[in-house]
Amino acid sequence: MARLFVALDVPRPVRRKLLGLMKPRPGVRWVREEQLHLTLRFLGHVEEAMERAVRERLDAVQAAPFSLRLGGTGVFPGPARPRVLWVGAHAEAGLLSLQQAVEAAVVDAGLPPENRPFHPHVTLARLQRPDTAWIRAFLRDHVDFEAGSFTVGHFALYASTLRPTGAVYERLADFPLNA
Ligand code: ATP
Ligand code: MG
Repeated sequence: MARLFVALDVPRPVRRKLLGLMKPRPGVRWVREEQLHLTLRFLGHVEEAMERAVRERLDAVQAAPFSLRLGGTGVFPGPARPRVLWVGAHAEAGLLSLQQAVEAAVVDAGLPPENRPFHPHVTLARLQRPDTAWIRAFLRDHVDFEAGSFTVGHFALYASTLRPTGAVYERLADFPLNA
């Protein structure tokens, strides 16, 4: 059984901008450049037959390429208990319609629907210590942060293996947008 998720890749120039935010800091585990992504749908552990069904449905997704702009910073689940530091994605129509098409595809394949709201973001770091003063300063310093826009021409299916040092992702398949 593989632990799967569907995500968008972040192109290199935008990744470089994100890397610019990553000053070493105790208790802050920055995401490695090649692992930066925007999750459209977390699938969790999926049996092989279900994975095949999901891939088939994702192959059939009809969506047009769109422009995506990353900017702003925040924390999950919230400022009182910051665990994940992220850069936001402006929720434009193209992104939302792809997310909805992916959701419909995985539900069609037989997975239970996601009932949590979609908060498009790119995780920058996992916060291992509640260094609230540093986090507040980081968020304040980067309210106007813009990582730039890029055209999303495909999405991807990833497998995630949980290791003691953090998850390691492997790209399983690429799905071009061409509606
Ligand atoms: P780690 O769990 O070691 O901190 P990770 O969260 O990057 O690393 P995964 O847990 O495999 O690795 O998650 C893969 C992607 O799916 C990440 O973008 C993560 O934020 C997202 N994700 C994980 N669980 C959920 C969930 N329950 N709902 C929505 N997205 C999720
Ligand atoms: Mg996780």
